[in-house]
Amino acid sequence: MIAPADDKQPLRVVADADGPDAYALRDYLTRSEVPFLSIVVPAGSSSAAGVDLVGRALPLVVLSDGAILEDPTPEQVASALGWVNPPSRSTYDLIIHGAGPAGLSAAVYAASEGLSVAVIERDAVGGQAGFSSLIENYLGFPGGISGAELAERARRQAVSFGADLVLMRHGVDRTFTDHDVRARLADGSEIHAHAALCATGVQWRRLDLPRAHDLEGAGVYYGAGTSEASACIGLHVYVVGGANSAGQAAMNLAAHAAHVTVLVRGPSLSSTMSAYLLNRLAVQPNVTILVNTRVVDVDGTDHLQEITLDQAGTATRVPATHLFVCIGGAPNTAWAETTDVRLDARGFLLTGIDLSAGDLDRWPLERAPHYLETSVPGVFAAGDVRANSVKRVASAVGEGAMAVTLIHRYLADIAPL
Ligand SMILES: Cc1cc2nc3c(=O)[nH]c(=O)nc-3n(C[C@H](O)[C@H](O)[C@H](O)COP(=O)(O)OP(=O)(O)OC[C@H]3O[C@@H](n4cnc5c(N)ncnc54)[C@H](O)[C@@H]3O)c2cc1C
Repeated sequence: MIAPADDKQPLRVVADADGPDAYALRDYLTRSEVPFLSIVVPAGSSSAAGVDLVGRALPLVVLSDGAILEDPTPEQVASALGWVNPPSRSTYDLIIHGAGPAGLSAAVYAASEGLSVAVIERDAVGGQAGFSSLIENYLGFPGGISGAELAERARRQAVSFGADLVLMRHGVDRTFTDHDVRARLADGSEIHAHAALCATGVQWRRLDLPRAHDLEGAGVYYGAGTSEASACIGLHVYVVGGANSAGQAAMNLAAHAAHVTVLVRGPSLSSTMSAYLLNRLAVQPNVTILVNTRVVDVDGTDHLQEITLDQAGTATRVPATHLFVCIGGAPNTAWAETTDVRLDARGFLLTGIDLSAGDLDRWPLERAPHYLETSVPGVFAAGDVRANSVKRVASAVGEGAMAVTLIHRYLADIAPL
């Protein structure tokens, strides 16, 4: 987000081990497009990069003005960079939950068309796209663009039109009464709006293995590993998954690692991965694809050391220090379970023509829901969180823009004559 001025040092992350805390910081900074130096020092070092380490809790973040944060969370770093600000007003025309491609697109169109809009985001801007090393199929970028860069451009665009970005805030619940949407945030604050757009996307599915949680960020990573790729030079790394995100991770890692093995549960990749990625993987000399292969165990003390693969009932243990897991996700819709907003069996938000008569038993209006409207009037959904949506950046961006047109219609209907 903020490039250091020419006369300032770049932000530095100093760590004495490749553990989850340092990984969380590198990952957050990478997805936020902040240039930084990652410095790993032997345990017990007394200084690094001109900073006295004695008595300090690592990892450290050294800001470009020299200020030092000891063992900070990503939120504390965001706060120190001046990004964590309260909403500028208590009531908006529109609240958008989620600053992935769908939410950012809606923010750009809503703000540019004169609506007051707040975007609530619990993490970095960009959503899943921020984990993508190179998006090659988004219109207008023939050489591809990193997801973090695309998101940062969209963030600047939304802010320039006057959208309020409320970052590092988790929306925990919402109530909808008489055209008043009340959104409660995890910090206890709440804001109100006349309409809401849910663009909360999906959350990485985790490996359901005993040690996977302990080793997360210490050898087991979720996503394409954009922040970790340069640390894989000379290593043999593993990618789990058979869809585009796994293919992209493999191509990105292959530029750094000695070898990348892609572990695919199914018998082939042709039905799950785009042809352009598949063709590239097929000719990449340091990539091997193992089909009909499942990871059934991960192990290590402080860091991943070994994984166990199952191939047709035969288990093999192999040494591994880096496992990148891209096995899809589940929708972020826990908040909806206690509301009249209806979900499909997998937890995705139902909208428009996908709502059955039974889903609309509490629908109070004579008109039918608009195309992207949920079973509660004035509450819309766009992007990956919506049932039956196409899981692509372009479709999320398109739905975000389309939702704003429908929200205008809704607001015109409720406006006093
Ligand atoms: C590694 C990877 C590579 C990909 N590559 C491509 C590609 O090359 N081309 C392509 O077209 N698509 C690609 N995709 C898919 C694409 O990124 C998604 O389809 C797209 O990001 C969906 O956008 P979205 O805005 O609907 O949701 P998301 O991107 O999932 O964004 C949702 C946002 O909502 C936030 N959020 C969730 N719950 C809350 C809450 N309670 N309060 C506040 N905020 C919340 C999340 O933190 C997140 O930022 C890729 C995906 C991945 C993971």
